[in-house]
Amino acid sequence: MDRKKREGFCNELESIRISKVIDNFMWEEPCVTDKKGVCAIFFSGCNLKCSYCQNCQISRGKVGSLYSEEEFIDLLKEKEKNNSYFNFITPTHFSNSILNALKKYQPKIPIIWNSSGYESVEMLKKLDNFISIYLLDFKYADNNLGKKLSHVSNYFETAKDVLDFCAKKKDVFDGKYMKQGLIIRHLVLPDEIKNSLDVLEYLAQKYSDRTISLMSQFTPTPNSPIKRKLTPLEYKIVESKFLKSFQKGYLQDFDSASDDFIPDFS
Ligand code: SF4
Repeated sequence: MDRKKREGFCNELESIRISKVIDNFMWEEPCVTDKKGVCAIFFSGCNLKCSYCQNCQISRGKVGSLYSEEEFIDLLKEKEKNNSYFNFITPTHFSNSILNALKKYQPKIPIIWNSSGYESVEMLKKLDNFISIYLLDFKYADNNLGKKLSHVSNYFETAKDVLDFCAKKKDVFDGKYMKQGLIIRHLVLPDEIKNSLDVLEYLAQKYSDRTISLMSQFTPTPNSPIKRKLTPLEYKIVESKFLKSFQKGYLQDFDSASDDFIPDFS
């Protein structure tokens, strides 16, 4: 489909649209927060349609402001002065336009590519020189669950290929802060503990030496088919597997499940 003319599955045209920009954002993993925090750029729309999405105000698209390549470059130039990183949140469906902008201007601070893990390796190869850190979700080890909850039939194979590619980026730290590398996130969903255990098992087989971030923050939004938060027992089971399987990473506190952690996009 030509997204210059028609909106795609992501509900957006090819031109960059941004819902919100937050300076000095301090909610990411500590190794990518640094003193000044990150400049969090929330792109509008999404190439998945997770029925439980906590950012559905923006992931369904058509909110926020359109940016030409030049306007996007101006934003990068302005924000790099007072932040330690850029965090491109849900950028996948704007990859082409972002790549064109980055070819014209490479920011002086590291760029974090914060995505669902469901994207094209061919496109990531083109972007790779400009991206310092991949902050990737690994949502499902079960394609049926991916189909049921995110409306795609091949999440597992796609995310595996993406991870294989992104894992080529070696971790580089400056003191306690990551300047290059990979962080793999997994959000534990209520009633889907087997999926979380399978995801962790898969990651443990191939990536036990990488930084894994286990998240407990799921909070149901009004339209979510998942109507409750995790129970302490559910999280404990997954946490126990995590602690046995990985050398380093982050465990979100159980009480992080609050809508305080969902930025307001209104
Ligand atoms: S990938 Fe993330 S932003 Fe996109 S629909 Fe799923 S939960 Fe929402």
